[in-house]
Amino acid sequence: MFYVKEKITDVVEVSIEITDENVFTHCPGCGDEVIVDLAELFSDGECDLYGTSVYCDKCSRKIRSQGGAV
Ligand SMILES: [Zn+2]
Repeated sequence: MFYVKEKITDVVEVSIEITDENVFTHCPGCGDEVIVDLAELFSDGECDLYGTSVYCDKCSRKIRSQGGAV
């Protein structure tokens, strides 16, 4: 498993397991919160956590209907 570790204070540190339900990003189209399945993302060959954008359903549908690439 993978997990994130964040130091809250000098004495408090939290470790949270990364699942397909607790990873989020913001849609670059409208700013909405989008849930991200990292396993799915990696299986597409994407592994750049900083350079990868995930559009929400609404925006990706709009982009697809305009014939643009997502
Ligand atoms: Zn959006």
